[in-house]
Amino acid sequence: MNILINAHSIIPSSRINGPGKRIVVFFQGCARRCPGCFNPATHPFRKVYPCSPDMLFKDFLRPGTEGITVSGGDPFYQKRGLLNLLKIAKEDYGLSTVVYTGFNYEELRRSILCKSIFEFVDVLVDGRYEDSLRETTLLARGSTNQRFYFFSNNYGEEDFYMPARAEIIVGRGGTVTTTGFSKVA
Ligand code: SF4
Repeated sequence: MNILINAHSIIPSSRINGPGKRIVVFFQGCARRCPGCFNPATHPFRKVYPCSPDMLFKDFLRPGTEGITVSGGDPFYQKRGLLNLLKIAKEDYGLSTVVYTGFNYEELRRSILCKSIFEFVDVLVDGRYEDSLRETTLLARGSTNQRFYFFSNNYGEEDFYMPARAEIIVGRGGTVTTTGFSKVA
């Protein structure tokens, strides 16, 4: 299915957004406005980069990629697009999937559509970023309220020991992108 997602940005190859080498897709749109959010440019619900999974993987997937990490903004404001993206990532490209959300798992699991999404998620990291609970030694999370949910046997918490908490990526055209968990949901 060719359902478009509205992405904020895409990092073709990251080493700190989950296990191994991963393509990272940041969705556009988040209503929470958490104080200290690492990525406030993702908050407005405006069209930034509409793309289909096929376009996305054709243009950005690099050889040797282990999985896809989806973050935001919040991907659960685009549930149908998220479901389609994760299903294609797993079934057509054999990628593992890690999803970050500011919603709590308890809120999400009440939705039938979210339950369908979870069938294609290896690891969910839930909870909004709480600046007062910031903890710089946490594994791949920004604040202590955020929790891991392992929905498959592919990964465990030991796989989220990242080589660093921040990463600076210099693109071919000299563009510089910073990603990490200093203050990100
Ligand atoms: S930290 Fe996450 S949940 Fe909070 S405003 Fe930023 S993107 Fe939204």
